[in-house]
Amino acid sequence: MTQKDQVLISILGDQLSTNISSLRSADKKNAIVLMAEVGDETTYVPHHKKKIIFVLAAMRAFADELRVAGWTVDYVKLEDGDNTGSLAGEIERAKARHGIEQVLMTEPGEWRLKQALSHIPMREDDRFICSHGEFLAWASGRKELRMEYFYREMRRKTGALMQGDNPEGGRWNFDAENRKPANSDMFMVQPLRFEPSQHVRDVMDIVERRFGNNFGSAQPFWFATTRLEAEAALRHFLHHNLPQFGVTQDAMLRGEPFLNHGLISGYINVGLLDPLAVCKAVEAEYRKGRVSIESAEGFIRQIIGWREYIRGIYWMKMPGYAKVNVLQATRPLPDFYWTGKTNMNCIRHVVAQTREEAYAHHIQRLMITGNYALLAGLDPAAVHEWYLSVYIDAFEWVELPNTIGMALHAEGGLLGSKPYAASGNYINRMSDYCKSCHFDVKQRTGDKACPFNALYWDFIARHHARFARNPRMAQMCRSYERFSDVEKAAITLQAKTHLDSITSTGVWA
Ligand code: FAD
Ligand code: SF4
Repeated sequence: MTQKDQVLISILGDQLSTNISSLRSADKKNAIVLMAEVGDETTYVPHHKKKIIFVLAAMRAFADELRVAGWTVDYVKLEDGDNTGSLAGEIERAKARHGIEQVLMTEPGEWRLKQALSHIPMREDDRFICSHGEFLAWASGRKELRMEYFYREMRRKTGALMQGDNPEGGRWNFDAENRKPANSDMFMVQPLRFEPSQHVRDVMDIVERRFGNNFGSAQPFWFATTRLEAEAALRHFLHHNLPQFGVTQDAMLRGEPFLNHGLISGYINVGLLDPLAVCKAVEAEYRKGRVSIESAEGFIRQIIGWREYIRGIYWMKMPGYAKVNVLQATRPLPDFYWTGKTNMNCIRHVVAQTREEAYAHHIQRLMITGNYALLAGLDPAAVHEWYLSVYIDAFEWVELPNTIGMALHAEGGLLGSKPYAASGNYINRMSDYCKSCHFDVKQRTGDKACPFNALYWDFIARHHARFARNPRMAQMCRSYERFSDVEKAAITLQAKTHLDSITSTGVWA
């Protein structure tokens, strides 16, 4: 064998799957796998410490897994002396080191990296159920890109929860039975926690040294970082939490950050768990009679529906998607998104949990921090950077459409026909945050009034011309029109007083 026959396979930090397309197409005997920890990837946003620890430790564990499986792995550590700090630089260095010309990789998940590495031959990432081409074909010619219709296509394609051509249980969507308001009697088992491995302890030292000022707590670190651990976490979820997943899906409780959520997004996104295998395992629980159709369907929809749909939108709309701002929101990010120092109990709680765990569940992201950002008119680019930084599962292809499209309505309604805007009333119904808040959720104006209330009506007022044309918002617009001039002026003043009181220095200590 000559070096001419050899190929360098570059594996990225979110490509930790043994059956990834680049590895599948290579012969172990003729390949060197390059894995590189590089400065650029650890600093393009100020990542939460736990996120850096998670990705680096999982990369190191995956390199071990590959070596055991017989691959030759060239692993470059962040602190290696000659590390160039960029993936393109490390690929060039490795080519020279091994005298290899041919390089191959699976396409990166993020537009930014795909551009930077566009000179390298790429295989499509087929860990997704829907390819780029299939999504574009589905979207082409449609006036509305409704997730629900896309989801039905994915159910048909995968056969998940199908009986022949029909959906299991006679309906595609069982949301009406799910999503009960918060209740402290709700049944929950805590997620499986793992002892930090040697890799975790090693990278924790590096992170404390190099990223000690980043947002978030490094410890305790209990996430899975190996495939076996991630699979154990999934089994634990299937057994203990999936049966109640649907019921508690939208609830928010102060003492229960995880409720019955899966906590597997990070594991799926970096490649430790396969999305379709997760759905099959969920379906098997249903077929064995251990979980209801409501929970099984609700969970599978999140993965083969929302996750795939979000990715399709990202690749269809990038790069312009990162800059859309139809509501012309320009307010800088308040410091309390980092510090949690606010009298709004809901935000204080979600930010504190985010600092501690690098995790918040969907409704906390969408209806607390996302809803506030929407109502207050925060700059989408700043909000996007925040979400991309603070969650362990945050990769741009999935974070950006969720933030820009779903939470901020910044592209004008591609992802949802109406904005996810809500007053304090929704938060009070779905959580127990308001019970111990400084503010009174029932009041719209006055010193003690919940800021979400005036902000909500002020948001409707500011965008009245746009939303009055929207059938799903028209009723709220008419409600606003019925307020007296005095009430309208009081709302405007209340919202302005609140917004004027916010400091935005970008400091997170
Ligand atoms: P569960 O509630 O247990 O759901 C199961 C799985 O479904 C998740 O693990 C995830 O893989 C998938 N899923 C659920 N909802 C979505 C969705 N809207 N989009 C894509 N996948 C979904 N998810 C990320 O993976 N990375 C992000 O950076 C991210 N940023 C978000 C930002 C905002 C503003 C919002 C509103 C949502 C974001 N989401 C993101 C989606 C969702 O909140 C997380 O996937 C979910 O909270 C992860 O926790 P879990 O594993 O416990 O999910
Ligand atoms: Fe949040 Fe308003 Fe409830 Fe306080 S009263 S927790 S600010 S919704």
